[in-house]
Amino acid sequence: MSTNSTFDAAKNGVDISSLKSHIDSNFEQILEELSSLVSIPSIAWESFDPQNLEKSAEAVAALAKDAGMESVEILREPAENGAMGAPAVVARRKAAEGKPTVLLYAHHDVQPPGNAEDWNTPVFEATKVGDRLFGRGAADDKAGIMVHIAALRAVLDLVDDFGVGVTYFFEGEEEAGSPSFRNFLEAHQDKLAADVIVVADSSNWAVGTPALTSSLRGMCAAEITVRSLKHAVHSGMFGGPVLDAPLLAAKLISTFHDADGAVAVDGLVANDSAEVDFDEDQFRNDSGVLDSFNLAGTGKITDRLWNKPALSVIGMDIPNVDQSSNTLIPQTRFKVSMRLAPGQDPAEALQALEAHVKGVDLRGAQVDFEATEAGNAYKADLDASANDTARWALEQAWGVVPVNMGLGGSIPFIADLLEVFPKAQILVTGVEDPDSRAHSANESLHLGDFQHAIEAEALLLARINAEGV
Ligand SMILES: [Zn+2]
Repeated sequence: MSTNSTFDAAKNGVDISSLKSHIDSNFEQILEELSSLVSIPSIAWESFDPQNLEKSAEAVAALAKDAGMESVEILREPAENGAMGAPAVVARRKAAEGKPTVLLYAHHDVQPPGNAEDWNTPVFEATKVGDRLFGRGAADDKAGIMVHIAALRAVLDLVDDFGVGVTYFFEGEEEAGSPSFRNFLEAHQDKLAADVIVVADSSNWAVGTPALTSSLRGMCAAEITVRSLKHAVHSGMFGGPVLDAPLLAAKLISTFHDADGAVAVDGLVANDSAEVDFDEDQFRNDSGVLDSFNLAGTGKITDRLWNKPALSVIGMDIPNVDQSSNTLIPQTRFKVSMRLAPGQDPAEALQALEAHVKGVDLRGAQVDFEATEAGNAYKADLDASANDTARWALEQAWGVVPVNMGLGGSIPFIADLLEVFPKAQILVTGVEDPDSRAHSANESLHLGDFQHAIEAEALLLARINAEGV
């Protein structure tokens, strides 16, 4: 599908080639600004110096002011547990009469470095090697911040009568799980309200191929306890007529998947809708799966990762082999974690899992089920006008039709944004590519894709200025 090309960019106050050359002539400066952000080790984890988050918030606030924002604030709100959250930068440029407002999100905190020996370049010193920039945060997500900064500067320089309201929301604790995010949204709802929200914290499909992240899986988890005896007994005296709890738990666990290895819990949403697929050899290599292992499930690998449920046992309480004795173990507890397809209500998934667990014949053993976690999946509204505009902008920037891609994991704060701002259209974009290694050693940014991401966002803002949303 080619995207809407009826928009005459030049007539509407933006010439695409001048915009591209403007960004190109400023690109060295943009890289210097990104490099100076990378030099601040802004890790939002408790064991790291929180002063670096303050420094990073101040550096980002200075860039926001310089980009043409009218008001720039560094704000904090407490998390649910009362602990004060990390500093976030909120900067605003009010909309002209009748113009919409766009909220641009990114985060200025980064993952810890991990083992410095695993890095080929200094962790917090942006280093250009070939067409990539290496360093912690060079991609995730300081490049996201620089996309928002550079795109606004470009439209303010080039677009006549640019009246779209633009708000920056640069969070400082995303990598720590955004503990104060929900409270922050609610406390500053009026400042953050927008018609379109652009979350620049995801990945493109491949170097040279842009993507919108159009779905994220949800998740849920439960603790299941199986009991067959009132107390432990000698396996020689009682084994045979009596089965131990770990064995019964294993019987139960073996019913969770069918012969193909697909989840066999009735009533879960699953579908085949991915437009693209991973190369199986590449996927096997990336995942580290053994050569002898046959991949589980059916259909495209992308559907198995993005649009179908997954079920894993992530913990089990049984004695260690070194401490084992000839005893029938009376009770065992294990934890099941599920990833849920877009469109799946997590509460309904937990009910389906409980009904499955309670329906398995374990010779009358007692089975307790306790739901522990539930998080919503996300599915973009592909018919939304902003989605169309974003696809157009990505195609103009890269010269390649963008891919709608899913993510097998979750970005929990997207669900919070949807709940607090139900009317806003959300676009999930990003600067990463499959080689970016966000969170790992040798994190890097592809400079060509980074430049296109800035062009695309500037074009998105210019077209929203011309046409509204
Ligand atoms: Zn991120």
